[in-house]
Amino acid sequence: MKIKDIPLQTILSENAGSCFGVNRALKIVTEQAQEESPLYTFGPLIHNPRVIKELEEKETFSLTTDEIDKLDAGSKLVLRAHGTAPKTEEALKAKKLILVDATCPFVKKAQEAAKNFSEKGFSVVIVGEKGHPEVESLLGYAPGAKVVASVEETEKLATSDAFCEHSVAPSEEEASKEEAILFEPVGLLSQTTQQEEVFEAIKKVFEKAGLTVATENTICQATRNRQESAKELSQKVDAMVVLGGKNSANTTRLAEICRAYCPTLHIEAPEEIEAADTKDFFGKKAEKLQQWGSKGSEKNLGKKPLEPLETIETSEPIEELEEPLTIGITAGASTPREHIEELIERLRKKSN
Ligand code: SF4
Repeated sequence: MKIKDIPLQTILSENAGSCFGVNRALKIVTEQAQEESPLYTFGPLIHNPRVIKELEEKETFSLTTDEIDKLDAGSKLVLRAHGTAPKTEEALKAKKLILVDATCPFVKKAQEAAKNFSEKGFSVVIVGEKGHPEVESLLGYAPGAKVVASVEETEKLATSDAFCEHSVAPSEEEASKEEAILFEPVGLLSQTTQQEEVFEAIKKVFEKAGLTVATENTICQATRNRQESAKELSQKVDAMVVLGGKNSANTTRLAEICRAYCPTLHIEAPEEIEAADTKDFFGKKAEKLQQWGSKGSEKNLGKKPLEPLETIETSEPIEELEEPLTIGITAGASTPREHIEELIERLRKKSN
C-alpha cells in the first residue's frame, strides 16, 4: 500500500531545514558564481545531494583532492561549510589557488576549542563521526585527538591500557599513531551536529573512570533546536518523515532521534515520497509498531488497538481509521526550505 492511499495530515516540526551556516555557505557560493564560472568547491559544499546537483546545474562543481591538483593557479576554490584542516588549507594556498572560506562560524568555534585544548596540553577527545569532513578538520587543529561516537567506545578508551596517568603529552608524531595514548587532563569537545545526551553521557564515562575532564560543548544551537523539536513532535505523531542527505550527520541524527519514538522514514529528496510504501514506515519495525499501536489507539484510532500494518491491510482496511494518520515532518540543517515545501505539497496531493 502506498502512502498516497492513506488519509494523512502533516505537521511540520517547529525547527526544521536549512540553518544559518548552510544559508551563509549557499549565499557565498551564489555571490562567487556571479563573478566566476565555472566555480569549484573543495568537496561537497554541504551534505545534500539534491542541492549539490542544483549547484552543478548552475556550473558550481564539487572537486576531489585529485581534481583540485589539476586546477590552474589563480582558480577560485570555495572551502566547504564543514571546515578544512589548517595543513590542507596551507597546501591549497601553496598551489596559488584563491580560497573563499564558507566554513560555518560555529564549526570555527569548535576548531578553536580543539586548538586551545591541544595547545594547553590536554588529551583531546572529539565526540563525532570518524571520517566526517568536520571531524577531519577538527583533527587538523588537535593532531592525535581521539574520536568517539558512543558511550561504549568511550568506555573502552577510558579503561584501556592506552591510558597513561599523568603522562607527558606525546609529540605530534607519537600522538598521531594509532596506539596513541590518552592522558590527563582530557579535553572533550564535540562535532557541531552531535546529540547533547550522548555528549553528556560520554563526559560522565570519563568522570566515572576518575579522569579529570574539561569540556567545551560545541554542539551548535541549530542542531539542538532541530533535535529538541524533532523529539517533541515524534512523540505526538503516528510517523515521521525526515528529509535530507543520508550523508548528512545532523539529518541522520534527527532520523535516529525520531525512530526512538515512532516509525520514521528518512528520504533525501521530496520526490522519493512518491514511491514510499507504508512498509517503508512500518514493515520491518514490529516492535516499534506495538508502541505506535498503543499510542495511536489512544489518539487517532479510537478504541481499536493498532496491529502491525500488514495485519491491518488484510483484516482492517486502513480507510476505516476514524481520523487521518498524522505524519510529522522534519529536515536536516542542509535541507532548503523549498524542498520541505515541496514534500508537504506532495503529501497533501497524495492525501486528497
Ligand atoms: S548545523 Fe550548525 S554548525 Fe552546521 S552549518 Fe548549521 S549552524 Fe553551522
